[in-house]
Amino acid sequence: MDRITIFMQNKENSRLLTEWLSGKYNVAVADIRQPLNGPLDLGILDGPALQKLWEEIQARKKTEEPTFLPFLLITPRRNVRLAVRSLWQTVDELILTPIEKTELQARLEILLRARRLSMGLKQRNEDLEALVQAITHDFRAYLRIILGFTRALYEDQAGKLEEQALHYLGRIQGEGEAAQDLVDTLFKFLRLGREGVRSQPTQLQAVVELCLRDLEDTIQAQDAQVSIEGELPKVEGDPTLLRMVLQNLLSNALEYVAAGVKPKITISGVVLDGACLIRVRDNGIGIAAENHERIFQPFVRLHGVEEYPGTGLGLSTVRKAVELMGGRIGVESEFGKGSIFWVELPRTGDEVSDH
Ligand code: ADP
Repeated sequence: MDRITIFMQNKENSRLLTEWLSGKYNVAVADIRQPLNGPLDLGILDGPALQKLWEEIQARKKTEEPTFLPFLLITPRRNVRLAVRSLWQTVDELILTPIEKTELQARLEILLRARRLSMGLKQRNEDLEALVQAITHDFRAYLRIILGFTRALYEDQAGKLEEQALHYLGRIQGEGEAAQDLVDTLFKFLRLGREGVRSQPTQLQAVVELCLRDLEDTIQAQDAQVSIEGELPKVEGDPTLLRMVLQNLLSNALEYVAAGVKPKITISGVVLDGACLIRVRDNGIGIAAENHERIFQPFVRLHGVEEYPGTGLGLSTVRKAVELMGGRIGVESEFGKGSIFWVELPRTGDEVSDH
């Protein structure tokens, strides 16, 4: 049964509500001078209680996230004009006095439905997470053993093995390493954002320089030309996620070029109304229009691994990271004519992190 707690200074209203709701819900009346604890699925407040418990309610809502814990405010009409925007960070619904019973019940049911849905989703997420943990843990263990024995065969028996056997052994090792890579990438994809997103004003230039340093060997090996167009702006983003996003886009730009073509990549960033737009342009193989959306989905690859190695999780991880930062991502491209991947992030405040 849903648990409703009433936080009210007005004793008469509190008594009336308890009487109305007791048959259908598990109702408790809290002393508003006491700290807000104890289990509840919905809180009903009046103005004085809200004033007293404002901060505690916000803190409690935060600890329950991602589950939704609703609070309903009951207030006289004359106080509604005082409602400010910040009120809606604490309270989810409002009912005017004198209370209309049918309206109260309808609002309570809607709020409780949202609460139940969020609890169901949270539970399913936790089950899924536990399953992934178990699978990746066991998978990693099996792969370690397979690769360990493959190495042992190489080291101890290589001289005794025929060419065909060595070829098979090479295949086992290659596929084993690819599977290990896939499990690691999948794990990172699912964990992304779990530690929280710390968006802050960040110098894009510094992040790009870090990425280019990480990719230095590949850039040199491919004799690639990477340039930065103009001055890169400050952006609002989590420096770690941002680095991961750019690193992925740049390594794709280096990878998906036709054989024999030297990669030519340009990075640019502009501040537009209310948003920062980052672009990564390449001279690669391009992407046909029908694939522009699909490539951001997990495991969608447009080429076989023999042609271009990869797990098909790169761009879906990038999209997840961008959305966690409150942004959007897309691509403009034509098959055979290079691509422009763009990332739009919310506009920054002022202070800048050194990252
Ligand atoms: P992977 O992790 O295997 O590289 P991604 O998710 O990063 O996969 O990319 C999905 C598909 O999108 C790739 O298989 C490739 O076909 C295409 N793609 C990604 N980036 C580019 C690019 N810069 N130019 C052309 N095709 C690209």
